Amino acid sequence: MVMPFGFAPSVEPIKVPGAFELPIRDDLQGVTSYGAPQLDVPVCLNVNENPFPLPDEVVSAITASVQLVARGLNRYPQRDAVALRQALGDYLASESGVEVPWRQIWAANGSNEVMHHLFLAFGGPGRLALSFDPTYSMYPEYARDTFTAYKSFPRRADFTIDVAGACAQISDNRPSLVLVTAPNNPTGTALDVADLRKLLIAAQQCGAMLIVDEAYAEFRRVGTPSALALLAEFANLVVTRTMSKAFGMAGTRLGYAAVADPAVVDTLGVVRLPYHLSSVTQAVAIAALSHSSSLQAQVATIRDERDALQDWLLGQGFAVARSDANFILFGKFGDREAVWQRLLDQGVLIRVTGPEGYLRVSIGAPAENDRFRVALMSAIGEEG
Ligand SMILES: *Cc1c(COP(=O)(O)O)cnc(C)c1O
Repeated sequence: MVMPFGFAPSVEPIKVPGAFELPIRDDLQGVTSYGAPQLDVPVCLNVNENPFPLPDEVVSAITASVQLVARGLNRYPQRDAVALRQALGDYLASESGVEVPWRQIWAANGSNEVMHHLFLAFGGPGRLALSFDPTYSMYPEYARDTFTAYKSFPRRADFTIDVAGACAQISDNRPSLVLVTAPNNPTGTALDVADLRKLLIAAQQCGAMLIVDEAYAEFRRVGTPSALALLAEFANLVVTRTMSKAFGMAGTRLGYAAVADPAVVDTLGVVRLPYHLSSVTQAVAIAALSHSSSLQAQVATIRDERDALQDWLLGQGFAVARSDANFILFGKFGDREAVWQRLLDQGVLIRVTGPEGYLRVSIGAPAENDRFRVALMSAIGEEG
């Protein structure tokens, strides 16, 4: 049996004393924490990480900067993380050509925390968040945590957003938050800037913030602009990014947002917990940002591997969602759980997610993608 990481056959739990009903929030009773299974298998293609370990020179730079801050760990971290936010601004300028001053950049422990802050600041009781399904499975959880109502509007059969329909939904429902994932997870679908502009106008007319989740932006096709290009035009625009995917730093937990209006950042500062970003996280992220090109040296390889795997899957007769990200949604299977299990039995872990009948595979290193191909052929051979 494959054991989850960190799972040890441990001591019996301490006996729970007496009968006491825990005053758990009504809406949390019986809810279990959810996340992709973390299994110790040879080929992990399930959570869209960059498969390449950090190069030696980056490991040295990170080690040196952590050593520098270590002596000062008796003190709380720099609360406003200014140096980090400046470094993130420099990175965005080099990556997308858009200059974003540090006062318009927010950083937190993963873009998940950034999004949580946005829900705390702009959601809440009596307010609505609107998104476009199938999309990232965490959004409803941020809504639940912050007592924000949540509604999603279905994407088209090819997973693009029906922009006219979406604008009508925005005007009819009057959300305070609109969430657009581009490229979308789990489908990989890109969003055209002209379409985004229409959504921003509709959101602005009903007083809503529009958040573009660009976790996978670095994998977009060459020549596709980032939503950052529209920051100068729309005060209600927030673009979130992360160092977890293309950047190859998922273990660091560093996400960030670029906003049009610095007042957004000020408000996120109100709802964050004190000293939310540790000195170690800040030091690691700054060191990594100064090596962003070596960390992302393999992004072109990942894109080529994605395109090759996409063509191969199509050639094998699968339904494949066209992807601008580092994963591919494919199907359709009568019993996707069974196919997932047969891949796992061969040491290849992918993800059961998205619409019924589909599976999602992250793009790995070339040898991992080859193992996936072989395992998949064998898995569907068994399906008969
Ligand atoms: C992976 C992912 C993130 C990144 O989360 P982090 O908390 O930064 O690791 C954000 N949004 C989407 C849609 C993702 O798939």
